[in-house]
Amino acid sequence: MACSAFIDGKRVIGAFLSDQAWSELKKLSRERKVLMPDTKLPAIAKTVRWNGGVTRFFSHFPGEAPEGYASKESPAHTARKLAIYSRLIELGIPAELEAGRDDWRADVLVGESAFSPELAIEVQLTKQSAQLTYERTNQRYTSGVPTLWIFGHGSSTGHLGMDLLHNNPVFEAVSETQAADIAQAVCTGQAFFNDRTELAYTPARPIALKVNCKCGKPWLLPVGVVLLPNRIRGDLSPIYVSVSRTSSKRNGRAVSPSGAYNYFHRYLFVVAEAAKKYGLPVGFDHYPERAYVKSGAIHIQRYSCPNIRCRRIMGAYGNKGADLTWCPVPITAHVDARPVVGVESAWLVAWPAPYNESVFTTAKWREHFILPMRAGLVCTGTVGGIDPEDL
Ligand SMILES: [Zn+2]
Repeated sequence: MACSAFIDGKRVIGAFLSDQAWSELKKLSRERKVLMPDTKLPAIAKTVRWNGGVTRFFSHFPGEAPEGYASKESPAHTARKLAIYSRLIELGIPAELEAGRDDWRADVLVGESAFSPELAIEVQLTKQSAQLTYERTNQRYTSGVPTLWIFGHGSSTGHLGMDLLHNNPVFEAVSETQAADIAQAVCTGQAFFNDRTELAYTPARPIALKVNCKCGKPWLLPVGVVLLPNRIRGDLSPIYVSVSRTSSKRNGRAVSPSGAYNYFHRYLFVVAEAAKKYGLPVGFDHYPERAYVKSGAIHIQRYSCPNIRCRRIMGAYGNKGADLTWCPVPITAHVDARPVVGVESAWLVAWPAPYNESVFTTAKWREHFILPMRAGLVCTGTVGGIDPEDL
């Protein structure tokens, strides 16, 4: 299936013909005078109802398509490539439908644009494995032409690596207009590859409790850290990362004690920075322990009083859910948020504008968070099991 064909060596695009010209073309096609753009075999002109309108296309005569010829092109696919093609022509960017080189043909072959001297655009609405995407991309790359892939939602399966992504833009589109917008952004040089390096410097707030220790020396008990990637890009939300307890399973896999240790310590320095700022010592961290709660097994990170003559071990419980990200305290450090942020390196057409998150007032934070946590503060013993008060 194709949306263009050749007559007397000249390309015609079905969608752009007048009704009269189209019916004349249909007649010529029945006389086998119209040729397919790729195989140059006789083409029959047809129409299909699509999206409240009619889409014109060409296909081989029944039984005449070469073996292995992928003829299954849906009206949705045709509509998208036409939308892309029309947009580029409108912008004065040289483009050809269903044109190619050597042993391949692209949905749209773009001439010189802001992106590159030539660019193959492929619309892919049916599922395509990463391996096939690599093969088809390499085929074009061998001819010196990079590929812009515009997949339908979820139609790219498997993982596309940086090696492919660096030179070949890959997007998902949900409509013809969005597909055309993407092609425009790439060909006018607005689209860019985002490798997430900006998230390596993400502002973070500490959440900690001041412990008025029985030994008389107050200290800071680390609870968690709030990461604010939303201040960098607006499609991301604040994230709470605990430095005191975590599930013993992540993504269906068991987390080992050393895995939990790494998790707790990744952002602990944000609290350490706060401790410096407030002139309080931060609690000593222990090796994570397993504990059993209602929801199952978890890893707990306990902290003990840094006063060597005291060493009370404390844990604070309570507080769950979205409230945790509403901490009003100032940012004390910048962290690499990439390990916990749910976005991959990807091509973007525009930068999602950052936003400032909502926070509780200090009074509300105290009421919703600090007081319940203070009430749940428990002493679970002392290091070595000896309470100095017993001595
Ligand atoms: Zn103490």
